Amino acid sequence: MDRVVLKTMSLPALEEWLAVFIDKPFRRRQVRSWLYAKRALAFADMTDLPQALRDELEQRAVLMTISPLETSGGGGDGSVKHLFRLSDGETVEAVYMPGDRHPTLCISSQVGCPLDCTFCATGLWGFRRNLTQAEILDQVIRLMASAPAGAPHPNLVFMGMGEPLLNYNALLGALRILGDGDGLGYGARRITISTAGIPERIRQLADENFRPGLAFSLNASDDERRTALMQRAAKHSIRENLAACEYYAERTGRRVTLEYVLFAGINDRDDDAARLRRLTRGRPFKMNIIPFNPGRDQVSLKQGPAQGELRRPTPAEVERFVGKLLPQVPAVTVRWSQGTEVDGGCGQLRGRKLEEDGVAPPDLSTD
Ligand code: SAH
Repeated sequence: MDRVVLKTMSLPALEEWLAVFIDKPFRRRQVRSWLYAKRALAFADMTDLPQALRDELEQRAVLMTISPLETSGGGGDGSVKHLFRLSDGETVEAVYMPGDRHPTLCISSQVGCPLDCTFCATGLWGFRRNLTQAEILDQVIRLMASAPAGAPHPNLVFMGMGEPLLNYNALLGALRILGDGDGLGYGARRITISTAGIPERIRQLADENFRPGLAFSLNASDDERRTALMQRAAKHSIRENLAACEYYAERTGRRVTLEYVLFAGINDRDDDAARLRRLTRGRPFKMNIIPFNPGRDQVSLKQGPAQGELRRPTPAEVERFVGKLLPQVPAVTVRWSQGTEVDGGCGQLRGRKLEEDGVAPPDLSTD
């Protein structure tokens, strides 16, 4: 008998599936609570279930879909990056960042990424597959289990590997369980989806009944420069994307974050600042400037069509650029990426591991 992966089911479907062989409703509630509220890592840990039921679950079902492979951590900011192995041997990364008040969990949505942005280590290794709903939820569960005792409830950001809106159904299924009081109980405000920008999907998400925070990776002030940096994502124009973001903000009553990875000499000029001021004027956005994190594999990153080498700006350069945005651009923050010492940039730990295993990045230059 093929075992059922429990966390690929919605909560109502899980209830139905359990009812086939568990008569008592309170027993079914116990199982559900072990899955999500108590986040058991093995059926054997479900100590208040009769042994016979634990055995039966073990025979019928799969509890965990990812297993720890490697961690890289203990950097100055306390971030820990986790590399997980999936049941088909693929690997995926997620990061635990302690933060000042709340920890943040950075979660992946795909193995690799089909977008292949010039500056991102994930795209370099090509696209393997979408993650399942269960694999998304299990990253959260594994990272929560790794938190120090007494750590506050974390926030979640979908800023790991992959483009979340290209794995819409699994993402939405995971969000429903994350947001459900009978699931993981995360408020919508504790979750942020970061997207390279697919306007129709942004609008679709805006019309769902569970709507997390949204961040859009703008990364350039005009479509030409954006195409040089993010060729595939940039087939949707900045204008279309910002209109969809505005719709999202209207539907949710929350500002949409515009993420802007800052590359010295590439997108930090005076005319960039002027265009950003125009693009954001009077609109429900806030800006997050992310100084480019080259990672240690910068030499092996393909150059792409962007002119000039991609360089991390100095703190003074960042400050100068931010000074040009203020005060017209609302709420500008700077995020010096956490976890740079732990291969914390997207896809860097997985890349290092693949290299150690003798795997070379695929040649993407012809497609
Ligand atoms: N595909 C989604 C989510 C993953 S990337 C998206 O594009 O938003 C999450 C964020 O990290 C994006 O804003 C992206 O632009 C940024 N990012 C990717 N590589 C980076 C790097 N090397 N240095 C700094 N930020 C990077």
